[in-house]
Amino acid sequence: MTDTLEVENLSHTYGSRRALDSVSLTVASGEVFGLLGPNGSGKTTLFKILSTLLRPTSGRVLILGHELATAAKAIRELLGVVFQHPGLDAKLTVRENLQHQGHLYGLAGKPLRHRIAELLERFGVSDRINERVEVLSGGLQRRVEIAKAMLHSPRVLLLDEPSSGLDVSARRQLRDALKTLAETENILVLLTTHLLDEAEACNRIGILDVGSLVALGTPEELKAQIGGDVVYIESTNGEALSPAIVQQFGVSPVLTDSHLRIECERGHEFVKDVVTAFPDEIQAARFGKPTLEDVFIKLTGNRFE
Ligand code: ADP
Repeated sequence: MTDTLEVENLSHTYGSRRALDSVSLTVASGEVFGLLGPNGSGKTTLFKILSTLLRPTSGRVLILGHELATAAKAIRELLGVVFQHPGLDAKLTVRENLQHQGHLYGLAGKPLRHRIAELLERFGVSDRINERVEVLSGGLQRRVEIAKAMLHSPRVLLLDEPSSGLDVSARRQLRDALKTLAETENILVLLTTHLLDEAEACNRIGILDVGSLVALGTPEELKAQIGGDVVYIESTNGEALSPAIVQQFGVSPVLTDSHLRIECERGHEFVKDVVTAFPDEIQAARFGKPTLEDVFIKLTGNRFE
């Protein structure tokens, strides 16, 4: 069996609105792949296509060697899917939720009990098995949802914005659990996210912008495309300041909202020089190492949100 999920020239239009524009990418088993993009960039559309809920307008998807267009049923058996809207019955206990799901997949009795125990152990929720879902924290509920999606031992796990609504520490625990799952069981994990910190923690990411894939690689590879440091300058008159900075320093500022963003070597020295040169025009200035947001700005000319 081919251990990859392949997307080739995938496009989708809703009426005249193009939501995906010739997207191509490959994800391998054992990695956590993040599809990062701001609202409206096409993440949900791609997610729906991969989870067999939406037929693409054109292009091809192969999941572990199965062609989506002709083998959706076989693909569904390989997929575990966690949607954005909670898929648990809050009034039932953790055990009851998982038992019902198991029955849907034809699991019962001892094998089902074992599988439930194994998954709850893996996701650190064993001690809450007899509690109603509604009393669990958001982070624990999300982990129970993932356990539920993994009951039938899928080879591919798709998650739509799994971290939305979770606090920073619950997000970190969730991504550790997903990474361990991918590595130890060779599961292919693909998630969508609009959170830069969540994307940062993925093995590889693809960045979507208005339906197009504008970057693909490890977070480190993408950030390495930006040489040196990034300097941000806040100014109430960025449009006039920008050409003046170009003229004096020979750098290439990008104006986004009230910020000028400049890539340069030795950012700390540049900050001092530029503030000295334009003390009245600059309200604040800072520099730092490139982030994924810088990558997004460099590629699209827009801030992430
Ligand atoms: P994201 O998940 O990144 O927010 P979506 O895939 O939901 O992006 O949306 C991509 C684009 O497609 C947006 O412009 C959105 O308005 C449009 N869109 C999404 N669903 C529909 C739909 N059912 N009908 C028409 N346009 C849609």
